Amino acid sequence: MLVFLIIFTLSPTEVLSNDQVLNLYTARHYNSDQEIYKIFTKQTGIKIREVTTKDQALLERLKSEGSASPADVIILADAARLWRAENLGFFQNLNSNKISETVPKQFQSNNKWIGLTTRARIIVINKRRYPTKKIESYNDLANQDFKNQFCSRSSTHPYMLSLVSSMIINNGIENTKNWAKKVVSNQARTPRGGDTDQIRAVASGECGVALTNSYYLVRLMRSSNPRDRAIIKKVRFVLPNQKSTGTHINVTGGGIAKYSPNPENAKLFLEFLMSKKVQQLFAKGNNEWPIIENIKLNNAKLTSLGKFKRDNLSMEEIGKNQFGAQRLLDNAGWK
Ligand code: FE
Repeated sequence: MLVFLIIFTLSPTEVLSNDQVLNLYTARHYNSDQEIYKIFTKQTGIKIREVTTKDQALLERLKSEGSASPADVIILADAARLWRAENLGFFQNLNSNKISETVPKQFQSNNKWIGLTTRARIIVINKRRYPTKKIESYNDLANQDFKNQFCSRSSTHPYMLSLVSSMIINNGIENTKNWAKKVVSNQARTPRGGDTDQIRAVASGECGVALTNSYYLVRLMRSSNPRDRAIIKKVRFVLPNQKSTGTHINVTGGGIAKYSPNPENAKLFLEFLMSKKVQQLFAKGNNEWPIIENIKLNNAKLTSLGKFKRDNLSMEEIGKNQFGAQRLLDNAGWK
């Protein structure tokens, strides 16, 4: 009787077969993504059940669920974590011609996961302290002029690991070791906080220079909050390495979960995320660049960052080097 009542109280979509469901495990946490999910459900009739938690917690959950995991699609916010998930066997093959033909090879990893959006790791500078000083590259952060001026998040964070991985590949391990030691001696404080905290600390003068992902800066640029406006007035930014390798690029990316109960829905969803409309919504909602080239941005502040030279290292290579990057930063005393 109880079972009968439960079935009877479910809405019509919930009593349909599993084919009408997509279980999405995502480390993204932006309201603008909800709009994207709604369009998908409207187009396909497939309902999205979302599990949102931080990257590391998501990986732990997948590990403990094992083959019983209901996850269909896994989305993580960084190449380092995506590669870790691949290495742990959490993805199955994508096998989508549409995806492999649309997404640049740099942002595809072994037919397991793809980038969905891109972001750049940029340098923010206190305008009053350094009104004219030329800062052109990540290497410049090791300059003695920045003694007690540099701020960043902790060395264990994937954004730091991915950047340092890219430097190991581009400049070699010895040069990167020397760079890291000098940058540590330039630190204004023990690394802490998120990227927005670094921008705030540059604005307040606690730090002279810092690293952040581009979308955090653009978010502040678009904010109407007077406190955010005040921050933006006090900082300038640089897209590093324009004369060498290009600015370091990272991704939010995803793939089909290894034990996905609805792999066809999962593939359909990932293909949907590659559509022009969705790519534009990502750019508008979270100030990230589309993974696909030549898509018009409906985001004036993001567009105002301009065109720039991007590092073309593959996300897979960056992911693989993260363990070396962690060792290197530990040895340099980067907390
Ligand atoms: Fe982020």
